[in-house]
Amino acid sequence: MNTFMDRANELKDEIIAIRRELHAIPEIMNDLPATTKFVREKLVEMDLEPTEIINSGLAALIGGKKLGKTILLRADMDGLNMKEDSGLEFASGTQYAHTCGHDLHTAMLLGAAKMLKEREGEIEGTIKLMFQPGEEYFIGAKAMIEAGVLENPKVDAAIGMHVMLDAPVGAIGYQHGYTLSSVDGFKITIKGKGCHGAMPEKGIDPINAGIHVHLGLQELVAREVSGFETAIITIGQFSAGAVPNIIPDTCVLQGTLRTYSKEVREFLVNRIREVVDLTCKTYRATYEYEVLSEVPSLYTNPELLDEMLGYIKEMGEDFTFIKDSRATPTDDFAFIAERVPSAHFQLNCRVEGERGAFPHHHPKVVFDEDVLPVGAAVIAECASSWLKNNASL
Ligand SMILES: [Zn+2]
Ligand SMILES: [Zn+2]
Repeated sequence: MNTFMDRANELKDEIIAIRRELHAIPEIMNDLPATTKFVREKLVEMDLEPTEIINSGLAALIGGKKLGKTILLRADMDGLNMKEDSGLEFASGTQYAHTCGHDLHTAMLLGAAKMLKEREGEIEGTIKLMFQPGEEYFIGAKAMIEAGVLENPKVDAAIGMHVMLDAPVGAIGYQHGYTLSSVDGFKITIKGKGCHGAMPEKGIDPINAGIHVHLGLQELVAREVSGFETAIITIGQFSAGAVPNIIPDTCVLQGTLRTYSKEVREFLVNRIREVVDLTCKTYRATYEYEVLSEVPSLYTNPELLDEMLGYIKEMGEDFTFIKDSRATPTDDFAFIAERVPSAHFQLNCRVEGERGAFPHHHPKVVFDEDVLPVGAAVIAECASSWLKNNASL
């Protein structure tokens, strides 16, 4: 019988065409009207019945004819608020760009969906497709979970993926356990009391308090985190004052904490708040603490991952594997992985030579489209084999 890889190769031009159409119409956040319309039409062409469970968030089911479990396959569809400068003939002409490769994710999942629908009679259980908006802002997955994407039917396992640029097509990266970092974004507004620069004793200097907060936060990583753990605290904005001789009223610090282990994350989130509170008190300032983002580290279930890797190896293709492929960016698939056993794959697609020298989120980044049939086949294979082997458990 024709394998998923054979069929994906037959569909290669079609999947590439889908990717290019999506690439030319990037949209951002939880408002992707043109993208959603396009994806919905493709799903309807396949005889599927997509439901828009949140604005710009689609879910669709395949299978369900034979009893079994439910596996969720997730693709993100959003772009970034930046201009593209790739020089590609199908480049975006708008103020937005697909520089994270989510257009490839969507095209791959549509390719997998088509192949799985063609073999719907064989599927032992149900496949739930999830096309989400708002990944870059960590708002899409959460909104779809709240809208019930993990229920009716209840999802038993999930697969997520991201295109990576560490190696050429055919190299698949993975990590057991904590795979991508958590992110906790915060904004600290320190309130002092402005006064003449010549009479600091008449006021409360928020810049002085802010500097000590900054130092204190860096020292948390240096002095309170084990050498076997990873944590990054970055202050990306520090702003206060306007002129040399006036102490301002306020000082603003915005930053992020990124880490992997749940325990380290909880510890540092609490310690950041303590340092801010006690430092501000020390220097007689008050403050407001605003949480900007809270995304857990993406946890890949080790047993599920091993099972999926087994199915990929059985495909008999010439894939290479990059183990321990932990990465620092965050992915809001983590909210799903927190609730159901999940496997996450990194599908490499670096273009060789100078053209491939640019990273994700760069205006000139390019991805090798040969990854599209590979990704579609891998997802389809993992989903159908997992359902088959877990149907009666
Ligand atoms: Zn991104
Ligand atoms: Zn991304």
